[in-house]
Amino acid sequence: MKILKFGGTSTGSPEALKSLVRIVRQSGEKIIVVSALSGTTDALLSSAKLASEGGDWQSVFASIRERHYSMISALLQPPYKEIATGETRELLDELSSLLLGISLVRDLSPRTLDLVASYGERLSAGIIAETFSQTGLIAEAVDARKFIITDDKFGAAHWLESETIPRVESFFSDFEHIAVVTGFIASTIEGITTTLGRGGSDFTASILAACLEAEEIQIWTDVDGIMTADPRAVPDAFVIPEISYLEAMEMSHFGA
Ligand code: ASP
Ligand code: MG
Repeated sequence: MKILKFGGTSTGSPEALKSLVRIVRQSGEKIIVVSALSGTTDALLSSAKLASEGGDWQSVFASIRERHYSMISALLQPPYKEIATGETRELLDELSSLLLGISLVRDLSPRTLDLVASYGERLSAGIIAETFSQTGLIAEAVDARKFIITDDKFGAAHWLESETIPRVESFFSDFEHIAVVTGFIASTIEGITTTLGRGGSDFTASILAACLEAEEIQIWTDVDGIMTADPRAVPDAFVIPEISYLEAMEMSHFGA
């Protein structure tokens, strides 16, 4: 068994989502971890911050809403379109109430910020699951808060192995469809939403792979390997043909 993880850039456009579906179909694998659509987590965090400062959170919220609805209309046909739209609307309604609440109390705790951030992956997983269904693959969005249990270090929570392993095993033991699992988000034992830290979807994939003793994790992204630099900043950056684990580990200290 392999776990396939797709980050924000792999879910960022209708074309990218179509190739995601093609890659999964060809792999025959069933457990997929997804990030929020690119830029969504940043937008969510800034909407919450704006709300807490009495700023114009509504326009950031509107851009998040448009982003998801336009993805749905570019990708999906009836009845999948209606299903995804309904689920998306429900999540967005909740999110806007939450932001309104933050703007009223003018208070933003790390705990509330994690809850706001969690909407990115919950929104993307639903849309991606319907994209699979439309191509005849039966898929379900799976909320990782059901089985990834952490402490309450909001913003960068630590997973609790002994709580998580049995939950993951039991959830996947009788799950027959393609599972489109939300990356990044988790829950305390009391059911309070947490996140694993920015870029945490890779870690979600790693946790699932460890719990299920997967043979491999594949992290799909928009570059072909580890590069000498961020290609957005350094145009002639190139893929490093070979790197030791130790060197890769060293580089990872500087981010993704
Ligand atoms: N969406 C989250 C972030 O932007 C997690 C991830 O993409 O891995 O940090
Ligand atoms: Mg990442």
